[in-house]
Amino acid sequence: MSAVIQPGEIRLPAQEAPFVRAADRKHVFRRRADRLLQLASDHPLEPFLMFVASVARAQQAALDRLDAGSVSLPPGLSLAEQRRRGEPVFSASSWRPEPVWHEVLAGILADVETAAPAPTRAAIDALRNMDRAELDTVARQVLDGDLAMADPARTPLVAAALQVYWTQLATALPVEDFGVIRSDPEPHPGHCPVCGSAPVASVVQIGGVQQGLRYLHCSLCESEWHLVRVKCSNCEATTGLEYLGLEGDQGAIKAEACRECQSYLKIFYMEKDFDVDAVADDLASLGLDLLLAEEGHLRNGPNLFFIPGEETADTR
Ligand SMILES: [Zn+2]
Ligand SMILES: [Zn+2]
Repeated sequence: MSAVIQPGEIRLPAQEAPFVRAADRKHVFRRRADRLLQLASDHPLEPFLMFVASVARAQQAALDRLDAGSVSLPPGLSLAEQRRRGEPVFSASSWRPEPVWHEVLAGILADVETAAPAPTRAAIDALRNMDRAELDTVARQVLDGDLAMADPARTPLVAAALQVYWTQLATALPVEDFGVIRSDPEPHPGHCPVCGSAPVASVVQIGGVQQGLRYLHCSLCESEWHLVRVKCSNCEATTGLEYLGLEGDQGAIKAEACRECQSYLKIFYMEKDFDVDAVADDLASLGLDLLLAEEGHLRNGPNLFFIPGEETADTR
C-alpha cells in the first residue's frame, strides 16, 4: 500500500535536530522561579522551594543586567572543531575568574536578603566579608564539584552567581555551529559541550524535530545537549538500565539507574508534564534521590542548590 504524504505531515528526520540547545536567556530563570512556586504548593519542602524561587528571580534580574560586552568569545573559535575533539568551549575547570562574577553575586545577595532564612542570612554576611580571592576559592570548589566539604548555606548562593555568569557566556555562542545530532558517538557524551560540567538531569522533549529526543541539562551554564535514550550518561552502558519512579506520581519523573556503574540521572518527560524544569523538578523530587541513595546509587551530576549536609544522605 502506498502512502501519500499530506501537507503538514512532513517531518524532518531526527538527525536535523540540534546537538546543543541554548538557554532562553530572557526567561530561563524567571520560568524556573514560576515552576518552583508551582511545585512548592503543599510540598514538604515548601519553604526551601520558595526560597530557591526567590534566588531564581534574582538570577534573572542579574542576567538582565549583563550585556553582550560582559563576556568576550575566544578568537578563531570553531564550535564544530571543539565538538569533534570533545573539548568544552569554556572549560569550567580551567576558568580564570573575571571580576564581573563578583558583581553578579553582590546583586543576587542584595535581592534575596529579605527572603532568606536565618542560616542563609548568616551566609550572606560571611560572603560579603570575603575578599575577591576568597570568593574565587569558593567558586573554584563549586566548579570542581568539590561539594562534600562545602558550606550548604553559602555554596548555593555562589553557585547561583556562577550559573548566571556561565549562562551569559553560553548564550553568547552561536550554538547552531555545533551542528545537528549525528549517528557517530560523541567523545564525551556525559559532559556539557559548552562548559564541561556534569548534567543536573535530562529532559525528553516534545514538538517538532526534537519530539521524543532526550537532552541533558547542564548543572552550570543551562545549555542542553543530546544523548540518545537508554544510555548511561556516566559510563555509556546501554544495557542494565532501570527506570525507577516514586509511587503515585504522574510518571513524568524517572531515575535512569545504571547497574554497570551504580549511578543514576533523572529523566523528565515533557509529554507527561509540559512545564518541567530540570533544576526545579530535580529539587522537588529529592525523595527519589533518597530512594536511590538507599540502593547504593550515586548521582551523575550535582544540583548546585542542594548540598547534602551531615544528616542527609550524601548523594554525590
Ligand atoms: Zn554547561
Ligand atoms: Zn553507568
